Amino acid sequence: MNNKPKFRFAPSPNGFLHLGHAYSALFNFHYAKQMTGDFLLRIEDIDIARSKQIYIDAIYEDLAWLGLDWQKPVLLQSSNFHLYKDAAKQLHKQEMLYPCFCTRAEIAKGAKNTDPDGAPIYSGTCKSLNQKQIEEKLNSKIPVQWRLDMNKAIKKTGSLEYLSSQPNPLTNPAPQPCNPMAWGDVTIIRKDTPTSYHLSVVVDDYLQEITHIVRGKDLEKATDIHRVLQNLLSYPAPIYTHHDLILNDDNLKLAKSKNSIAIKTLRQQGILPNVITRKLGFNYHNLTKSS
Ligand code: GLU
Repeated sequence: MNNKPKFRFAPSPNGFLHLGHAYSALFNFHYAKQMTGDFLLRIEDIDIARSKQIYIDAIYEDLAWLGLDWQKPVLLQSSNFHLYKDAAKQLHKQEMLYPCFCTRAEIAKGAKNTDPDGAPIYSGTCKSLNQKQIEEKLNSKIPVQWRLDMNKAIKKTGSLEYLSSQPNPLTNPAPQPCNPMAWGDVTIIRKDTPTSYHLSVVVDDYLQEITHIVRGKDLEKATDIHRVLQNLLSYPAPIYTHHDLILNDDNLKLAKSKNSIAIKTLRQQGILPNVITRKLGFNYHNLTKSS
């Protein structure tokens, strides 16, 4: 292993990239160059039903159009399911996971609080199932998700922190305390796919030896869960930067589902890429100059 900084941009191909994604990709690329590091692209396509090849193709085209290049080959998470399974096995061995058969409606009904994303916190109903009941449910093929027993996990890891470089990766990192309890017993293996965002992102950041994780402030709180998983799996912790989000006119976070303007559309309208990169605060010409 060498000490070369390694950055990554990790979009999910379930829609076209918008300006928020472009900002995040440019931000990573810019600081990777500034620190003479590597810039990787990872396609986070664990959601088999929503991930589409047209979105993957558009990611490559949009980023190249913006003047970015990245290390090849690109990792597609759909080719790493066996590795997520191995990591989950390690968590099973530590008895950190338990099966949950609750439906979405049952989870919402039983919840007393919401997590940092505003989703209902799981009340833990299935934690009281005995071995016989679990086996019956598993045998009758009731859809199952596997959750992290957060209390147990924290008992094992103790209190955690991570190094945070704000506002950018050139800043001296400072310790940032974690509060993973705010999430409750998060899902580690989903019903519809044999992993979860949290598990696969932690495994791949480790396997790809990412040293600097730079992503939007919307994922800042999720880092607390990632630190727990890294600790349980004996992975080292990268340094984190959580950048500001690009807001639209209503001050809402840009999201693919809200029909924010796609980079692809801007491209097709004949807008020049340096107009976009300059608007996002990165000088196109400096950016593309190799360091
Ligand atoms: N795939 C995630 C997303 O598109 C980002 C993952 C990350 O940067 O940790 O929101």
